[in-house]
Amino acid sequence: MSDQTLTLNKVGRDEAGLDYEVVVIGAGVAGIYQIKRLSDLGVNATVLEANSDLGGTWYKNRYPGARFDSESYTYGYSFSKELLDEWHWTERFSPQPETLKYLNYVADKFDLRQHMQFDCFVDAMDFDDDAHVWHLSLRDGRTITCRFVIAALGVLSVPTLPRFEGMDDFAGESFHPFEWPDPAPDLSGKRVAVIGTGATAIQLIPEVAKQAEHLTVFQRRPNWAVPLGNGLISDEEMADIRSRYDDIFDQCARSPGGFEHTPDRRGFFNVSREERVALWDDLYDKPGFALWLQNFIEIFMDETANAEVAEYVADRIRQRVDDPELAERLIPKDHGFGVQRLPLETNYFETYNRENVTLVDSTETPIEQITATGLKTSAEEFEFDVIVYATGFDAFTGAFDKMNITGVDGQKLRDKWAEGPVTYMGLMVHGFPNLAILAGPQTAATNFPRAVETSIDWATPLFEHVWQQGHTRFEATAQAEQEWFDHVVAMYEPLLVRKSKGWITGYNSNLDGHEFGNMRYNVYNGGGPKYTGIITDVAADNYRGIGFDGS
Ligand code: NAP
Repeated sequence: MSDQTLTLNKVGRDEAGLDYEVVVIGAGVAGIYQIKRLSDLGVNATVLEANSDLGGTWYKNRYPGARFDSESYTYGYSFSKELLDEWHWTERFSPQPETLKYLNYVADKFDLRQHMQFDCFVDAMDFDDDAHVWHLSLRDGRTITCRFVIAALGVLSVPTLPRFEGMDDFAGESFHPFEWPDPAPDLSGKRVAVIGTGATAIQLIPEVAKQAEHLTVFQRRPNWAVPLGNGLISDEEMADIRSRYDDIFDQCARSPGGFEHTPDRRGFFNVSREERVALWDDLYDKPGFALWLQNFIEIFMDETANAEVAEYVADRIRQRVDDPELAERLIPKDHGFGVQRLPLETNYFETYNRENVTLVDSTETPIEQITATGLKTSAEEFEFDVIVYATGFDAFTGAFDKMNITGVDGQKLRDKWAEGPVTYMGLMVHGFPNLAILAGPQTAATNFPRAVETSIDWATPLFEHVWQQGHTRFEATAQAEQEWFDHVVAMYEPLLVRKSKGWITGYNSNLDGHEFGNMRYNVYNGGGPKYTGIITDVAADNYRGIGFDGS
C-alpha cells in the first residue's frame, strides 16, 4: 500500500467517524469510472444507485432500436489499454443489450460491484457547514454521512409524460420508452400508438412498425434526421480499430464534439454551391454524425447557410417517402437543420411507406384526451392496445430536482436552479460545498463518455489535492460561478441553437417553467478542447475560483 493510499484511508471512516469519505450517486457510465478511480486510490467510497443494477441510461432504455449514435469505439472508456484490447464491439453503433453487457464487463473486470449499492434512492442531501459533512437520507430509511458527494446522475435520467386527461383510464399497456417493460411486450397483432418524434421515437418507430399490426405515430413537430449507417464490425476491423485507439481518442479530444468527426473549415461561402453539395452528398451516406459535425461551421450560425443545408436534407427526405404530401409533413419547417440535437435513423422515413403505419399531425388535430380504449384527437377517436409516450425528459436538472439538496444557509439547489442551472465549469455550485458534478449541466456538450472522462480526470486530482492539503471543504466562489455563467451565455450568442425549441435549451411542454423562450443555459457550447483547456488552466492556477476550508 502506498503512502498516498494510507493518507487517504486516514481521512476516511476511521479518522472522521463518517460512513464514507465519498459517496458517488449513480452507477451509470460516469459512476462506474469514478468509483474505479476512487477505489484505485483506496478511498472509503461507495456508489448509491436508485436502479436495481448498474448501467444508468443503458440499464433503463430497453426499447427496441435503442443504440448508440456515437461510434461504439469512441463511446467506450479510454482509461485502460487492457480493456480496449479485450473488448470487441460487434456493431459500429452498439445496441443497448451489448452496451449494458460492456458496462457490466468493466465493473466485473475491475471488481467494482463491491463498491456499489443498488435500489438506493437518495431522497435528500443536507450539508452541515460546521462539520463539513453531507447527510444523505435514503428512501429505504437509512441515513449516510460523508465528506464529499459526487453526482453522476446523467443528463437524461428523468422521463416526462404528457399531461393528457384520462391517462389513468387507458385499459391497455402504456409506458415511456425509458420504462420499456422487461421482458419486452409482444407487439405482434397489436395496435400501437407512439406519441412524439424525438431521437428516441425515431429509433423505435421502425422497429415497432415491423412487429405491430398497425402503428400510428402522433407527431407534433417533425425532427431532422439522417442515416445512422450501422454495420457489423469484423474481427479484422476491430483489430484495426484497436491498433488506432490512441489516434482515435486523440482525435476525439481535438474535435469540438468529442467524436472523430471534425468540421469542414474551408468556409461555407468560400466554396461554390456545387462543392457544398458534393460535400453533403458524401456526408449524407457516411455513418454517424458526419453530416452534422463534418459540415461547415457556418450552418450553426448563419441563417442563409443553414437554410441551404436544410433544403438539401429536405430533398433527401422527399426522395425517401413515396407520398409527397406525407414527405412534406415529415420535413421540419419551424427550425433549421442541426440546431437541435440531431437524431440518427435507420429506415425511419421509409417506415412511413409501409401500409401498417399512419402519421397523425398533432399540430393540426391535437390529442385531446386518452380514453379507456385509445385516444381522442380534435378530429377522430383511435383504438389502441399499446400507447408509447416517447415524450422526452426533464433534462439536465431533473435528477437534481428530484433530490431535496440543501446547501449552506438552508438554500435549496432546486430553488437556485429554478430558472436553469448555474455552475462553476459545470463541476460545482457555489453554496453547495463538497459537491462535484460529473458531465452535468454547463459542461461541454460532447460524446458523453468523453465528457465523463474529462470530468473525472479533472475532479479526481481535485480531491487528491484536497486530501493532500488536509482540507475538509471546497466551494466555488460566487464570483467564479458568475463569470462562468456569463461565459456560457456568451457562447450561445453566435449560435442558432439559442432559438431552438428543444431540451438542450430547456424546452419541455410537459413541465411548468420549461416553456419555449424560457431559455436555460444547459450546455457549454465552446466545444471539448476549449472546455478542457479552461478547466486544466484553472487546476494549474492553484484551483482558481475555488475556496478551500473557508479560505
Ligand atoms: P425529445 O427529443 O425531447 O422528444 C420528445 C418528443 O415528444 C418530441 O417530438 C415532442 O414534440 C413530443 N412530445 C412531448 N410532449 C408531447 C405532448 N404533450 N404531446 C405531443 N407530443 C409531445 O426526447 P427523446 O426523443 O427522448 O430524445 C431526447 C434525447 O435523448 C435525444 O435528443 C438524445 O440526445 C437522447 N437520445 C440518444 C439516443 C442515442 O444516443 N442513441 C437515442 C435516443 C435518445 P415537440 O417537439 O413538439 O415538443
